[in-house]
Amino acid sequence: MAGRRALERKGLLLVVSGPSGAGKTTLCKEIRAMVPDLRHSISCTTRHPRPGEVNGREYFFLDEQTFEKMVERDEFAEWAVVYGHHYGTPGKALAEMMDQGRDVLLEIDVQGAVQIKRKFPEAVNVYLLPPSITELRTRLLRRAGDAPEEITRRLRQAGDEVRSYRQYDYIVRNENLKDAVKELEAIITAERIRTTRLNVSRIEEQVAKEFATGGDSVPGEPAGSPRKRGA
Ligand code: 5GP
Repeated sequence: MAGRRALERKGLLLVVSGPSGAGKTTLCKEIRAMVPDLRHSISCTTRHPRPGEVNGREYFFLDEQTFEKMVERDEFAEWAVVYGHHYGTPGKALAEMMDQGRDVLLEIDVQGAVQIKRKFPEAVNVYLLPPSITELRTRLLRRAGDAPEEITRRLRQAGDEVRSYRQYDYIVRNENLKDAVKELEAIITAERIRTTRLNVSRIEEQVAKEFATGGDSVPGEPAGSPRKRGA
């Protein structure tokens, strides 16, 4: 399946960013359940797991030393310090998925999105806007596992970060999850058939073959047999 798809088009590298509490994780989870063949890249982080988070599922939870060694060995496609912790996208896993022509979803911050766009200019960036700062605060408070000072830090940063939306290809406003999922799905559907992502020579080969054999043949009639115009 991946082999056939890889022949037809290049994989889509989709980056979703937005302030903490905007609903990125829920949105990405929903979209992965809905859109077939969308791979999720699991990031590494030095922050502690929240209750319910599992190593290797939400993140690979690493200590600072291990993370730094990976940086030295250039093992990240991108990495950044976000809210005082290190976060990075493992390069090898990403390269493998892209080589196979897979569609990959990265849920990363603005600094990471900039690095990815520089490395992969064809990447598609989506910025998820929360409906309001009040709603953002409510969501952060509702989320178990972050200390009050961590919540304050994230809220303060949200104000600065939100201005980055201008650098993104698309903006999705998360007023309600259902509509946000629908919009993200529409972006993926459209980007999958973007001309520059398609394997044009493959299409041309198919179209040329079809035209050469007279694609307007009727059932029971040999392909390419002469037919009267308008018949
Ligand atoms: P959280 O601690 O709430 O899971 O994530 C905090 C922030 O780090 C979010 O904005 C999230 O998108 C970002 N983040 C998660 N993984 C990565 C990554 O691999 N690279 C970068 N640059 N940011 C990440």
